Amino acid sequence: MKNAVVLFSGGLDSSTCLAIAKSQGYNAYALSFRYGQRHTVELDAARRVANHLGAAGHLVLDLPLGTIGGSALTADIDVPKDRDTAEMEQDIPVTYVPARNTVFLSMALAWAEVLPAADIFIGVNALDYSGYPDCRPEFVEAFEKMANLAIKEAVEGRLMMKVHAPLMRLNKAQIIELGMGLGVDYGLTHSCYDPSGDGLACGRCDSCLLRRKGFEEAGVSDPTRYVPQ
Ligand code: ZN
Repeated sequence: MKNAVVLFSGGLDSSTCLAIAKSQGYNAYALSFRYGQRHTVELDAARRVANHLGAAGHLVLDLPLGTIGGSALTADIDVPKDRDTAEMEQDIPVTYVPARNTVFLSMALAWAEVLPAADIFIGVNALDYSGYPDCRPEFVEAFEKMANLAIKEAVEGRLMMKVHAPLMRLNKAQIIELGMGLGVDYGLTHSCYDPSGDGLACGRCDSCLLRRKGFEEAGVSDPTRYVPQ
């Protein structure tokens, strides 16, 4: 069986991505980061989902991006709430984490070279997203090109790195339908940018709103546990 490294937050998209990698016959190694998030709910969810989906391994790396700051996810900046789709599409929001996917993919590349794995999966999406530049197809293609110039296993011809972004052209509802077909239990996943101390989703951040809309459009009852409004 082939190995793959899957960037994995325990959210809706990356959980679907892990299930896709497994369905394509990969030993899927999940990679998560303690990068200075405001909360550990996300990592608890990642552990649960990696276990539920049968990841071949799950690594949680420390990356103190909070020391750099510059994002509402890692610094003391308010997470935007109650924005409509037009507002979300306007600018790159303060929940953008500087160079996050470049940093994450670089760590995935390092692990892939050691495993070895010629395939990396990332759950980025160019439709229902918040305008992050490192979620675009151009970015993923450029990273793949760089990866094959960067590592010994590729340069010496033993491995040709491929970066898969299977959710790139799907909307949230399509992602949910795909994941349900692959047996993903979305009740275990966590997407909220600003959960309560006991792990309930706020229901008002961009991530919660896109997720909720996805369940509505898919005609699936939303298993997310929200803070009572
Ligand atoms: Zn939220």
